Amino acid sequence: MIPVAIPDLSGNEERYVTDAVRSTWVSSSGAFLERFEAEFAARCETQHCLSAANGTVALHLALLALNVQAGDEVLMPALTYIATANAVRYMGAVPVFVDVDPNTWCIDPTKLAAAITNRTTGIIPVHIYGHPADMDAINAVAKQHGLWVVEDAAEAHFAKYKGRTVGSMSDIATFSFFGNKVLTSGEGGAVTFNDSSLLDHARSLRGQGVDISQGRYAHPIIGYNYRLTNVAAALLCAQLERADEMISRRNAIFSAYEERLSGIPGIGFQPVAHWAQRTPWLFCLTVDKAQFGATRDDLAIYLHKNEVETRPLFIGLHQQIPYRKLAAKQGTPLPVSERLSATGLNLPTFTALSEQQIDKICDLIRAKAQC
Ligand SMILES: *Cc1c(COP(=O)(O)O)cnc(C)c1O
Repeated sequence: MIPVAIPDLSGNEERYVTDAVRSTWVSSSGAFLERFEAEFAARCETQHCLSAANGTVALHLALLALNVQAGDEVLMPALTYIATANAVRYMGAVPVFVDVDPNTWCIDPTKLAAAITNRTTGIIPVHIYGHPADMDAINAVAKQHGLWVVEDAAEAHFAKYKGRTVGSMSDIATFSFFGNKVLTSGEGGAVTFNDSSLLDHARSLRGQGVDISQGRYAHPIIGYNYRLTNVAAALLCAQLERADEMISRRNAIFSAYEERLSGIPGIGFQPVAHWAQRTPWLFCLTVDKAQFGATRDDLAIYLHKNEVETRPLFIGLHQQIPYRKLAAKQGTPLPVSERLSATGLNLPTFTALSEQQIDKICDLIRAKAQC
């Protein structure tokens, strides 16, 4: 079976993890954590970085730092991973689902104004499948209405928007280092800051609300344990050394897929806006049943029978059981998110994927189109 994702740990990962173990610094402080936070902030062109246990708690920390209140309404794309909405619910706040733009698959800035009420306090654009959201347009709406913006960059490490790096275009951004993400520490996450005033508060929240200046075991606020370990940071330091190499290999895989699948009736690709330099996360295609002659699910089953694993695109948040009622009450039509969710498929994307494997996958898809 060719899997959808395999982490690439072929550089200094093993060496650095061994170094961390031998040093006995395996818990939530150590040299790898410090090095990672400094290097990641620099690479993202942000002021600061706090590592976190995973991308979901990174989002929660960002919302805690911004002091989001119960009942606040937060705009987000309907097409994203469930964590974006869940983090908002952890605050008792209300996710408001906005359709995505067919040209970017990210939140449609032209649909924001209609979703804003006097309870709206913020927007979480998601750089979906590695493609940056249209941040200038989003930030303009946010500024006009006095809203905060948190970029959910879990899938888009180092993607560029008009030459700027994702994470650098809002007060706070969040990242994931889950096993299938572009950079991984197994489980892991980060929050980046451009507003230094939020940093100390977020650091305290990450560590049980401790304030060391008030003495040991002084916890003036209720916090969380959302820390990353030095062992995980050792993996991330090694991943950062090869980030450019891994991203360029993934770009080559995207090009190979697009070249070999182009011209198959009914197969479409993730669009790339002229201002975007996406980070190649999972390769996405869309299947138009009328032209292709089979549905996305038919194709997925056929590939699985032939030992190729795939993933459907995310299920719209408004279609998920915990959010259906809320979405029905909001009543916003979300046709683009629904179409992509119903027709989109991820193909295997990992640096060790060989040319022969890409050929096999593309030949299978072409054969399926012809029968
Ligand atoms: C992966 C992901 C997250 C959550 O990250 P975890 O590390 O799995 O908690 C959040 N948002 C998006 C868009 C993601 O893809």
